[in-house]
Amino acid sequence: MTSTIRFSLAGKTAIVTGASRGIGAALADALASAGASVTGLARSAKPDTPFTHAVRYLSRDVTAGIGHICAETGQFDILINAAGISLPGAENFAATIQTNLTAVHAACEAARPHMRAGASIINITSIASILGLPGNPAYNAAKGGLRLLTKSLAVDYGPAGIRVNAIAPGYIHTAMTAASHADPARNEARRRHTCLGRWGNVEDLAGAAIFLASDASAYITGIDLFVDGGWTAKGLLE
Ligand code: NDP
Repeated sequence: MTSTIRFSLAGKTAIVTGASRGIGAALADALASAGASVTGLARSAKPDTPFTHAVRYLSRDVTAGIGHICAETGQFDILINAAGISLPGAENFAATIQTNLTAVHAACEAARPHMRAGASIINITSIASILGLPGNPAYNAAKGGLRLLTKSLAVDYGPAGIRVNAIAPGYIHTAMTAASHADPARNEARRRHTCLGRWGNVEDLAGAAIFLASDASAYITGIDLFVDGGWTAKGLLE
């Protein structure tokens, strides 16, 4: 077997939530580019921009459950939970936990009986899963919870041959971060906080997702794969 074959997703079937824009849309496209048959979900009637590769798109709210989509998909191999919201304000605490944590747990549980041995679940956490960031405690709490939910489910699903890992992005330029990206001071602060001296773009996450979805990572479960330009490695800001 060549290393290239280990990274191929040919013959695998995937469901990606949060696929109408941003990270979820890019990862749906990335899985399809590696050969997977992909269904992408989000609430919008259609994705913001067309996919480059063949992705079937369905308008669905993850907080309503995805059990029927898992059942209709049949046996499948990859679930990426990328749907998420960031709404600072105490009034949004419950909704943030609901979308970013509770719905991910429900999606994993709905997917589990339909996933083949060797399957891979990837939860999109954040550097906010291990670091306190200002003004958004619900998001911090949800992502911290999702980090440990990922490890908990890795334990529970491991005997069935289902791996569960997290990708923890740093600041990625999407609609979610558009305001801080557009603000010169906040843009510069976030750029300087990385080792690589730049924001991430959605394509920066594709390799990590293909790796964790593929047989190349067959012995990896329960990890956080930080894709943050070195944000969490950096001490002094000089
Ligand atoms: P965007 O706001 O650009 O996209 C969020 C996506 O989630 C959209 O497709 C949205 O679609 C979907 N979504 C939100 N709520 C629901 C729901 N109830 N049901 C179904 N789909 C939903 O955000 P990003 O692409 O930036 O973020 C994607 C994930 O990555 C999130 O979990 C976020 O927390 C995480 N992340 C982002 C970082 C960044 O810097 N951008 C950094 C670290 C983590 P629709 O509105 O059509 O439902």
